[in-house]
Amino acid sequence: MSTTALPRDTAPTGARTSPETVPRLALALMAAGAAAVLASWWHATTSVVGAAGWLDGAGRITGLLAGYLAPVLLLLMARIPVLEHRVGSDRLARWHALAGRYMVFLVSAHVVTIIWGYALTDGKNPFAEGVDIVFHYPEMIKGSLGTLLLFGTGIVSARVARRKLRYETWYYLHLATYLAIALAFSHQIVNGADLSVQPEQTLWSAYYVLAALTLGWFRLWMPYVRDRRHKLRVHSVVAEGPGVYSVILKGERLEDLNARPGQFFRLQFQTRNLRWVANPYSLSAAPHPSYLRFTIKSLGDHSSAVARLRPGTKVRAEGPYGAFTEDKARSPQVLLIAAGVGITPVRALFETLPGRLTLLYRAGSDREILFRRELEDIARDRGARLVYLVGSRRRHGKTLTPRGLMNLVPDLKAHDVYLCGPEPMQQAVIAALREAGVPASHIHHESFEF
Ligand SMILES: Cc1cc2nc3c(=O)[nH]c(=O)nc-3n(C[C@H](O)[C@H](O)[C@H](O)COP(=O)(O)OP(=O)(O)OC[C@H]3O[C@@H](n4cnc5c(N)ncnc54)[C@H](O)[C@@H]3O)c2cc1C
Repeated sequence: MSTTALPRDTAPTGARTSPETVPRLALALMAAGAAAVLASWWHATTSVVGAAGWLDGAGRITGLLAGYLAPVLLLLMARIPVLEHRVGSDRLARWHALAGRYMVFLVSAHVVTIIWGYALTDGKNPFAEGVDIVFHYPEMIKGSLGTLLLFGTGIVSARVARRKLRYETWYYLHLATYLAIALAFSHQIVNGADLSVQPEQTLWSAYYVLAALTLGWFRLWMPYVRDRRHKLRVHSVVAEGPGVYSVILKGERLEDLNARPGQFFRLQFQTRNLRWVANPYSLSAAPHPSYLRFTIKSLGDHSSAVARLRPGTKVRAEGPYGAFTEDKARSPQVLLIAAGVGITPVRALFETLPGRLTLLYRAGSDREILFRRELEDIARDRGARLVYLVGSRRRHGKTLTPRGLMNLVPDLKAHDVYLCGPEPMQQAVIAALREAGVPASHIHHESFEF
């Protein structure tokens, strides 16, 4: 496949605003929402008296915060373009996982403190009080089922459990959160002392409805519209290396996708076994008006099935997503570091990023080097530096250290660095770059693991 986009040797055009502006704004907005929730408790509470009063207050606050956090959790995963492009899917997934842990903690604290507080007020033991609350208070059965589902999702999402489950199994179990949140909603409105008053009740309901509409819009409606508009199909599948295949997709009006090199799509190939699975794959060449190319390494069911795809197979593509793009760069000197199949987004950036480029490409053996011809053509056309780091880990033990990197790349500190490869390698290289004096804001990486 020939290269497609025009190489530019100018200084980067993006980065007029700090890449951290949107992430900071998003965090500030989330914190402001939590503060507003606390303010509503403050507003509705005249006094807190005795142990029962403190426990009741703690129960109400944790319940309100958990109720507030539920739509936040979903919105982080709603694939809202500004967040996907500016915060990045991997960081959103990390925030989502962290918020999920807070949520489990808040709901646990809410259950314990409310039951305990009510038990003190009623002079009962907490167990009897708990049974009474669950079975005799309105909307409590639904609230309790929602809580159990949430705890179940928390358990399957714990790292140990997740490693044992297939990604798809984990994903579908995880979807139970939607049901948990829907079940818990009426409990909040009916039982929540702070939400039974106006305008709090209307505002709270509006917040949930807005979150549901946003989710529906970006997760269902937009993919449907794009599918109809672009009509993507597999054009061809090309072997690139051991167990690695490129899939070329053709479709209509592809330029309207506004995809950028470094970004990825979630692809659903419309064949019998792959129809319901949307796996993320990066563009391995700059997007072209008449085709998109992805390059996929066989790791499991989905990625291995790629080799057997037939031309003409329909494809649903959600995206483009990702913040591993040109506009992150702030310096005219750019270092790209790729390892293994992590070369895919880096290959697309190598073709298009402005500035003076150096690409370090780490592979286990010569056979594993992907796109050799293409990379060499781009390097020649652009006057870019291309360095292969081939061989065992032991052989390259010192190459990707602070000193090794400084030896390979003079003036390393002044570079922006784009990095993609296996997770442990990324962590080690980021640590080495930081030690070598590269500012964190100059290091941009794409993780292939959410
Ligand atoms: C942003 C991004 C871009 C990627 N780009 C490429 C690429 O260009 N080329 C390429 O070969 N691979 C890429 N990957 C990795 C690729 O998505 C997984 O290797 C692939 O989904 C494996 O699926 P499987 O069913 O074949 O294997 P499985 O046996 O299901 O999984 C193998 C590994 O992939 C992980 N995985 C599976 N499905 C997903 C998913 N939907 N999201 C996140 N992780 C998953 C599993 O946790 C496991 O570690 C990318 C991943 C991400 C997150």
